[in-house]
Amino acid sequence: TLIVAVSLASLAGLWADFMRASGAAERIFEILDRNPAMPLDQGAEIADLKGGVRFEQVHFSYPTRPDVAALRDINLEVRPGEVIALVGPSGSGKSTIASLVPRFYDVSAGRILLDNRDLRECDPSWLRSQIGIVPQEPVLFSRSVAENIAYGVGQSDQAAVEHAAQMANAHEFITKFPEGYGTEVGERGVRLSGGQKQRVAIARALLKNPKMLIFDEATSALDAESEFLVKQALERLMKGRTTLIIAHRLSTVRDADRVVVLEDGSIRETGSHEELMEKEAGLYRRLVERQFLKE
Ligand code: ADP
Ligand code: MG
Repeated sequence: TLIVAVSLASLAGLWADFMRASGAAERIFEILDRNPAMPLDQGAEIADLKGGVRFEQVHFSYPTRPDVAALRDINLEVRPGEVIALVGPSGSGKSTIASLVPRFYDVSAGRILLDNRDLRECDPSWLRSQIGIVPQEPVLFSRSVAENIAYGVGQSDQAAVEHAAQMANAHEFITKFPEGYGTEVGERGVRLSGGQKQRVAIARALLKNPKMLIFDEATSALDAESEFLVKQALERLMKGRTTLIIAHRLSTVRDADRVVVLEDGSIRETGSHEELMEKEAGLYRRLVERQFLKE
């Protein structure tokens, strides 16, 4: 179930959207500073990819701030198909961990293995074609909804686009537009709500059918209906895929196989929601009690 290769430009665009959507002023730097030296279309492709990811003693500093450790001594094994929720205060390293998997940057020390192969041996373009990214607030292009869903996936027929949209709980609102799938969205077209944009991005990821998934949960409130529809679509999308969710909601964290709690670039705790709640003085429990994670 592998996918059509996606051009670097489109992925760079998606990642830029992802970062732009995460809001902080410093995200601007991430877009501008993203390692331009990364060699593309070079390296290995893993045949019959399972999607297991292992961080081994990973340290990372951004090239622009070599003296500051963004990640310290990260050890984390993600089994194929496992769903990991990354939680922690702002600036704790959640987005940074997620950005290392598609090789937007390489580790400063240690290594990351994909199916037991060092990521640095893997062709970044190929690697990125195996990863679906759903940003907090996807930026859509001034094109038709159908083109937005098929974006970066190569040629796909209308039936496949509609099937993906159905699975993503997007078909219904799309068919209510006067021109249906041909309706232009984005800057010059129909404005979509945050939840609708995420569902379009989920449809895009479903069509791409990647082995791995990075989902950045929206921080801004979605209306209750949209929230339910996004969640249901996400569950369908995650099925059988190795998933990293940057989570901001308790309900999302509860559904994950494992929670990884970050602080200051380090992993402080890992376990299920229940296990972590049992730790009297645990960081996760404090985050939940202080309603850092929204209900
Ligand atoms: P989170 O996603 O948990 O809010 P980040 O992974 O974005 O945290 O940030 C981790 C650390 O790395 C922070 O100290 C942040 O300031 C720093 N950082 C993030 N992006 C960049 C960047 N592009 N250049 C330099 N420092 C960065
Ligand atoms: Mg972040």
